[in-house]
Amino acid sequence: MKHLFEKHLLEHFLKAPSDPARISQLLSLTGEACEPLRAAAYDCMKQNVGEDVYFRGLVEVTNRCGLNCLYCGIRRDNSVERYTLSEDDICGAAKVCAEMGFGSLVLQSGELRSDKYVDFICRVVERIKRETKNERLPMGLGITLSLGVFSQGQFQRMFDAGAHRYLLRIETSNEQLFGQIHPADQSLGERLDAIAMLQQVGFQTGTGVMIGLPGQTLAMLAQDVLMFKKLDIDMVGMGPFLPSRNTPMGENPILSASKRLQLGLNMIAVTRLVCGDINIASTTALEGLDPNGRQKGLLYGANVAMPNLTPPENRVNYKLYDDKPVMQPVDSAVASIEKIGRKVAINKFGDSRHFASRFARR
Ligand code: SAH
Repeated sequence: MKHLFEKHLLEHFLKAPSDPARISQLLSLTGEACEPLRAAAYDCMKQNVGEDVYFRGLVEVTNRCGLNCLYCGIRRDNSVERYTLSEDDICGAAKVCAEMGFGSLVLQSGELRSDKYVDFICRVVERIKRETKNERLPMGLGITLSLGVFSQGQFQRMFDAGAHRYLLRIETSNEQLFGQIHPADQSLGERLDAIAMLQQVGFQTGTGVMIGLPGQTLAMLAQDVLMFKKLDIDMVGMGPFLPSRNTPMGENPILSASKRLQLGLNMIAVTRLVCGDINIASTTALEGLDPNGRQKGLLYGANVAMPNLTPPENRVNYKLYDDKPVMQPVDSAVASIEKIGRKVAINKFGDSRHFASRFARR
């Protein structure tokens, strides 16, 4: 029989899916030996959230940022051409998103913690909700925000304006590693506090990590997955670390591209098995390492994809890392999903099933 060892490992893991040592072992699989893990994760996805893929149109609102994360291409100290989209540009992209039948939109940006920026976001969110309503989308587009850390009052205002999901990555659950990749004015504790606030406000809440960071071990990644579970998170977006040349972490030695890709895929699979009914995104960073990276993520248990709808002339300046793929036209994004036998759910919010069950438990 093929893959006997891996099948045993999986069987034992599934009996106690919180054993960090077994998670590390699963994460270390390479090549053909990953197939039982992939198949189990796919099956788990099918049973818990179904096979449909939910699209969120991604709009990168501004690359201005007040933070100086050591890995990020749009960090404050980098000299890149800065832009902020106008309300009209953002609403225009939202209308395209709604017309394509993608029921949801993500607004992402650098971190600007001012009330003025929150005012701007609230105005945009209200306008998108109003202007994208039609008989197929009676509530307008679903809106996810990914704008970094704010105060609870500011989060509340954005929720009240009509956004209902929020993504805030912790980047790593390991405090020491967090300290190595961020300047001293940021802390893991601050992000965890913000996640608790988001949950309290009522957002469907997502987090995630980077995979293959210099100094990151399999044991740390296993703890990341257990942290998603502990936080009772509704959505996960994570992907391989991709160095950005003009950042302090641009030249650090790291795992090869193929190893980072496989580790990224294994993380998706293990997260699916541990967290069950959450939404998991197959992220752009996977595609940065492999032209079929997004499809592979979906085959390892992800159920969300985020086609980029930022106007192309701005997109080139929202460069978190060097290998950011130039996204394919949106209709071929649909075709690439259908090619792997999956269907794109049309005109649906695609809310996290986990959120519904978390809410019922409250
Ligand atoms: N400022 C917002 C969102 C923008 S960045 C926030 O921090 O929430 C979105 C994500 O891109 C980050 O959380 C990080 O995980 C990822 N990212 C940034 N630089 C990266 C790099 N060099 N390689 C891979 N992912 C990166």
